[in-house]
Amino acid sequence: MTEGEPLLLDAMLGKLATYLRMCGYDAAYTLDRDAESDDEVLALAQTEARRPVTSDESLARKAPDAVLLTKRDVPDQLRELSAAGFELELSAEPVHCGTCNAPVEPVDRTEPTPEYAPDPAEEDVWRCRDCGQHFWKGSHWDDVAEQLREL
Ligand SMILES: [Zn+2]
Repeated sequence: MTEGEPLLLDAMLGKLATYLRMCGYDAAYTLDRDAESDDEVLALAQTEARRPVTSDESLARKAPDAVLLTKRDVPDQLRELSAAGFELELSAEPVHCGTCNAPVEPVDRTEPTPEYAPDPAEEDVWRCRDCGQHFWKGSHWDDVAEQLREL
């Protein structure tokens, strides 16, 4: 199983999607993509060659390569994924936007950043090419690193 394997997370797994993106996964979220019914989810997975990750047994039965998660809390779900062979470590640098999953790019040291983000002259900052959200390795990054170490 490779870190780059594109995934599609079902409607119940939006929070987990954010964690997987921080680990470098291309983790699309069905509700961001307007896929709600099983058929829509399966069609999207097939079109984009994404492996479904779902907490829905009936959906998992329809997709032979689906990963079925049975737990409700994110740390437990991460443990299930780890047990299924997924590598769960923060990527060295942000790759996918935690909000929308689009690719992120480094912000130049001289570029202005929004008020919520640090000065890129002092700290490495990345920006989502799609939604414009800015990211840096702040305290949230450290918290997630810690959570992943404890799995
Ligand atoms: Zn984004």
